[in-house]
Amino acid sequence: MRYISTRGAAPILTFEQAMMTGLARDGGLYLPETIPHLTHAQIADLAGANYEETAFAVMRPYMGDTFTDAEFRGLIAAAYKGFGHAARAPMVQLGANHFLLELFHGPTLAFKDFAMQLIGQMMQASLTKSGQRITIVGATSGDTGSAAMEAFRGLANVDLFILYPHGRVSDVQRRQMTTPAEANVHALAIDGDFDVAQARVKDMFNDFAFRDGVNLAGVNSINWARVLAQVVYYFYAAVALGAPHRPVSFTVPTGNFGDIFAGYIARQMGLPIEKLVIATNQNDILDRAIKSGGYHGTGVRASISPSMDIQVSSNFERALFYAYGSDGAAIAALMEELKTAGGFTISQGALGRLRDAFASGACSEEQTLTTIQNSFAQTGEVLCPHSAVGVHVAMDHQGRVPMITLATAHPAKFPDAVQRAIGTRPALPPRMADLFDRPERMTRVPNDLAALQSLIRERIAR
Ligand SMILES: *Cc1c(COP(=O)(O)O)cnc(C)c1O
Repeated sequence: MRYISTRGAAPILTFEQAMMTGLARDGGLYLPETIPHLTHAQIADLAGANYEETAFAVMRPYMGDTFTDAEFRGLIAAAYKGFGHAARAPMVQLGANHFLLELFHGPTLAFKDFAMQLIGQMMQASLTKSGQRITIVGATSGDTGSAAMEAFRGLANVDLFILYPHGRVSDVQRRQMTTPAEANVHALAIDGDFDVAQARVKDMFNDFAFRDGVNLAGVNSINWARVLAQVVYYFYAAVALGAPHRPVSFTVPTGNFGDIFAGYIARQMGLPIEKLVIATNQNDILDRAIKSGGYHGTGVRASISPSMDIQVSSNFERALFYAYGSDGAAIAALMEELKTAGGFTISQGALGRLRDAFASGACSEEQTLTTIQNSFAQTGEVLCPHSAVGVHVAMDHQGRVPMITLATAHPAKFPDAVQRAIGTRPALPPRMADLFDRPERMTRVPNDLAALQSLIRERIAR
């Protein structure tokens, strides 16, 4: 399997190289040259398989000879053994034909653990073989950072730097990033919002001297391996509800478009998904883009679902690449326009293809709170604000096939919003109960590329 860049002008890589590279050298994102297909019979065979077996079957066709089958099975087992639920991704029922896929039973209580735990295992295995050392720099709106800290802390061949927007993440999110004591992980609080943090990370990747000097790698959802790990739970949930014999729909709370793009890949692999619904909070650029064809940022407005407070949605580039018939030059031109003019208009043909692939909806702050309230009153299920955005939008898209809404975080990760809605604070699971007693360690940093680069160089030289 070979990997190509969405902008068509970067070296073609293997799976292992794409995983270690993150952002392509032409500024694009890596994608497999062709998407492997699972037959009806192969999907039917997944009935009754556990999460780990499903993960192996779905991901193996993408990996070439990076790992042997036995190695890969071992890495999958190690990645998910620390989850707090035997099913890994259990489902609960919210209504007659509406299901909630709980993706928050990993070590940091958000769906990011599914990919990050596995990518940590895979990178470590690969670095142990090659004897190399890498520097990972990532931007986070909260949950990617905590998941990465948890996955990479203490690893011998990795230094991890996480840039998070100062003052804009929840206390639980911040503490999950600032309390790991291992010397190889570094929490950096940047002055600015998520888009600023993500832009500086991209700048570092585009500075080739720096990039090569520190052996830079990325774990944001620009990293293909992360998207791939998320494809698994679409199969797992759909098969549990009768796929491939019966189609299902999914609604996905969306920020950087990584999670929902994994659903798109699942469908391209042959999983019968009827609707794939983008759910945004008040930062609704994706909903507006699908409805109007205009992709124009209006600035991030801080919300009670902060992990979706994003206006420059990296993985949307991957969806655009397919919508433009895999025309890398066209994508490069759009991204240049985004940079210089702050937005672009999607061509009619591409917009038609995007609308065939995705439905969309947005959810206001008020509607988010009401949804948490109603869901608790009607089902006893306490939703985190991101999951509530999904549930609200899903209601507008329900039909005869089962709707599965992705619950992306545990409510205890966002207790303030939940308390506003239902009057009580959800408790952290017992294994995390001492989070507020542990000492914090972080560095405030300015929104300044050169300053960030010298801080990173200094820290890794120690
Ligand atoms: C990251 C995150 C999202 C958004 O996921 P994307 O892949 O960026 O679209 C939604 N909810 C929570 C809780 C998250 O952590």
